Amino acid sequence: MPRKIVVLPGDGIGPEIVEQAVRVLDAVNEQYKLDISTQTFAFGGASYDQSGEPLTEETLKACRDADAILLGSIGGPQYDKAPRDKRPERGLLRLRSELELFSNLRPAMLFSELADASSLKPELVAGLDIMILRELTGGIYFGGPRGIETRDGKQVGFNTMVYSEDEIRRIAKSGFEIAMQRDRRLCSVDKANVLEVSELWREVVIDTAQHYPEVELSHMYVDNAAMQLVREPKQFDVIVTSNLFGDILSDAAAMLTGSIGMLPSASLDINGKGMYEPVHGSAPDIAGTGKANPLATILSLSMLLRYTLNESVAADQIEAAVASVIANGVRCPDIASGSANEQIVNTVQMGDAVMTALQDT
Ligand code: NAD
Repeated sequence: MPRKIVVLPGDGIGPEIVEQAVRVLDAVNEQYKLDISTQTFAFGGASYDQSGEPLTEETLKACRDADAILLGSIGGPQYDKAPRDKRPERGLLRLRSELELFSNLRPAMLFSELADASSLKPELVAGLDIMILRELTGGIYFGGPRGIETRDGKQVGFNTMVYSEDEIRRIAKSGFEIAMQRDRRLCSVDKANVLEVSELWREVVIDTAQHYPEVELSHMYVDNAAMQLVREPKQFDVIVTSNLFGDILSDAAAMLTGSIGMLPSASLDINGKGMYEPVHGSAPDIAGTGKANPLATILSLSMLLRYTLNESVAADQIEAAVASVIANGVRCPDIASGSANEQIVNTVQMGDAVMTALQDT
């Protein structure tokens, strides 16, 4: 069966970085006979400019019919005055919710050569490779009742942290599946010593573990997890957690690496279909200057091949090519340290370097 990837370059630096990722995709598609076809659509601000909608019905349908989506980035100051429901971010939120992308994967990895960019000591983060899985569509951000009201003459704000057994089971399953493709260690993060919702979370995660005897499961309270992430981050393989805890922990973990232009991400549905995108935004400050680092998008492509298309050999090859480019001192300005051994390149030249390394790996 041919596999379909919808490509959404988006706005700002999006088209520049996606162009380089598509070159890499075309190369591995040909080399490994992956039978992948791609279709490109305007999305976000670019789509609003064309049609008045950040996400058209045609694009949505193509995304529904596709196996996976590769997104650049969306948004920019020129859309700040667009009607609220027509802004680029609305298109992204709608796409995530229409496709029921409930599982958010945020790897935090750091090539040893870039360890100086971290705020932690290089030896703590060199070679870091952890995956944080955040539940994206439930929990306290969506639970009710919620609001601000007056009680006994004083204002009170309240939210509800709620998870059903099914919601926990599907994110737990996603966590075990991801762990199976990595080092087979899963740490479930909760606050089961205080919250009933976490008690249920832990119970359901333990129950789901029966189906994954090869995975070593551990549990950690969220406050301890925050400490451990900055104390000894390399102890983790995969972390699975709720929406609120994951929001905070994944940002902390991402910043351990110190280089936003290097971080990929994915959002998956129950069948493993997913949308893959760099963690960073559309960087309007450098759009069109050739300074955008395409590696986060190229690494998002390798996640797509690994987690949705199960093409781990091609994914490994892309990651090895990126590692070799970094080892050879090739740097976009955002990851340059100023050392004399570095070769500073623009977006297209970084794409060239990865293409050359692909042939050599
Ligand atoms: P940003 O991530 O776009 O940029 C933050 C800083 O990092 C900027 O200095 C930028 O130049 C730099 N940077 C980001 N990506 C880079 C790359 N690949 N190479 C080199 N440098 C890079 O965040 P922002 O400035 O807060 O937001 C800009 C726009 O992006 C806003 O409209 C925001 O809404 C949007 N945004 C979109 C997404 C998305 O598409 N998922 C995510 C975050 C922000």
